Amino acid sequence: MINGSDYTARYPNWNDWKWQLANRITSVDKLSKLLRLSEPEKADIHKCLEHFRMAITPYYASLIRPGDPEDPVRMQCVPSIEETFSCTDDMTDPLCEERDSPVAHIVHRYPDRVLFLVTLKCSTYCRHCTRRRVVGEEDRVISEKELRSALGYIRGHTQIRDVLISGGDPLVMGTERLEKIISALRMIPHVDIIRIGTRVPVVLPMRITDELLEMLKKYQPIWINTHFNHPREITPDSERACAAIVNAGIPLGNQSVLLKGVNDSLSTMRELLLKLVHMRVRPYYLYQCDLSRGISHFRTAVDKGIEIMHGLTGNISGYAVPKFVIDAPGGGGKIPVGYNYIISKDDREVVMENFRGDIFRYPQPPAG
Ligand SMILES: *Cc1c(COP(=O)(O)O)cnc(C)c1O
Ligand code: SF4
Repeated sequence: MINGSDYTARYPNWNDWKWQLANRITSVDKLSKLLRLSEPEKADIHKCLEHFRMAITPYYASLIRPGDPEDPVRMQCVPSIEETFSCTDDMTDPLCEERDSPVAHIVHRYPDRVLFLVTLKCSTYCRHCTRRRVVGEEDRVISEKELRSALGYIRGHTQIRDVLISGGDPLVMGTERLEKIISALRMIPHVDIIRIGTRVPVVLPMRITDELLEMLKKYQPIWINTHFNHPREITPDSERACAAIVNAGIPLGNQSVLLKGVNDSLSTMRELLLKLVHMRVRPYYLYQCDLSRGISHFRTAVDKGIEIMHGLTGNISGYAVPKFVIDAPGGGGKIPVGYNYIISKDDREVVMENFRGDIFRYPQPPAG
C-alpha cells in the first residue's frame, strides 16, 4: 500500500470524483494487476461475474492490503466464489420491497415515510448488498416519466413527512440532476425531512465537494446516513468528507451490517463505533445480514449480534451504540433485537440486570 499523496503524484486526477468513477475497476485483469491474484483466484472471480457485477473505485481499492484474502476491505468489494453457492434460505427480494412498492422506485412500508430509490448505480458494488437483485444489473438511472410518477405519489400522500433518498447510491448522480429531485421534494409542503442514504464517504469521499454541500444546504432539513463497516475504512479522506458534511450543518448517521469475518467481533465493532463518534458520525443501525442471494457466507448467528450489543451497552458512550435490527424477511420491517435485561416483571416490581450482570429492583407504582 502506498499513501494518498503518492497516488496523486501518479494520478493527477485522483481527487476528482468523476475520474474515480471513470476509472473504476470492473475487470479481473485490472484487479489482478493491483492485488496480484493467483490463476485459481482469477477463475473464481470470473465465475462470480457471470452472476453479479463488480465495480471498485481506485480509492477504495487502494485501501486493500494485497495478498490477504481476508482483508476486510477486500471482502466487501472483491467477488468471492461463495457468492455462487446457493443457500436454501436465499431470497431474491427478502424484504418484499416490490410488494410494498405502489409506484416504481418508491417503497412505502411505514406510515409517515418512504424509501425513494433514485438510481440503481453505485460507485463500488458491495458484495453484501441487500438490494443486489436490482443494484448494478445495469447502471440505470430513473427516467423522467418514472420520476414524475414517484413525485406524484409523494405529493398525493400527505402522511409522508420523511423521504429517504436511496438506491443504488444517490450521490453518484450529478449535482444538477440530484438538485432537480431534492428541490421538487422540498416544494411538497408535507415533506418535512429529506434523508440521503449514501456510501460515498466510505468508497468515494472526493464526491463530497463544496459544490454538492452548497446545493444541499439550500434544502434543509437534510440528514445523511452513510455505511462504514470497518475501522480500516476510516482514512484522512473519509474523515475530511464526514467533517465537511457535518460542518455544512447536515447531521450524519451511520448504518453498518454485521458481516462474518469483517466486523463480527466486539473489539472491531467497538473501535469502529468510537472512531465514528470521534468524527461526529452518530451510529444509527447495526443490521443483521439479510437473505439476499449470494451473501449467505456473510451471515452470522443472531446471537453474535446480541452478544456484541451486550458488550457495547454501558461499556462505551451511549452515543456510540447503534440499534441492532433484523429487517424481517417477508417485509415486516426493521425489528429491534437485543439482550433481555428484564429478569421478571409483575404488578409489584421489575427485576433487572445491569450491564455488569448485577441485579436491581424497581418497585412499580401502587395500583390506582
Ligand atoms: C429503513 C426503511 C425506512 C426508514 O426507516 P427508519 O427506521 O425511519 O430509519 C423507510 N422505509 C423502508 C422501506 C425502509 O426499509
Ligand atoms: S452502496 Fe449500498 S446500494 Fe450500493 S452496492 Fe453498496 S450496499 Fe448496495
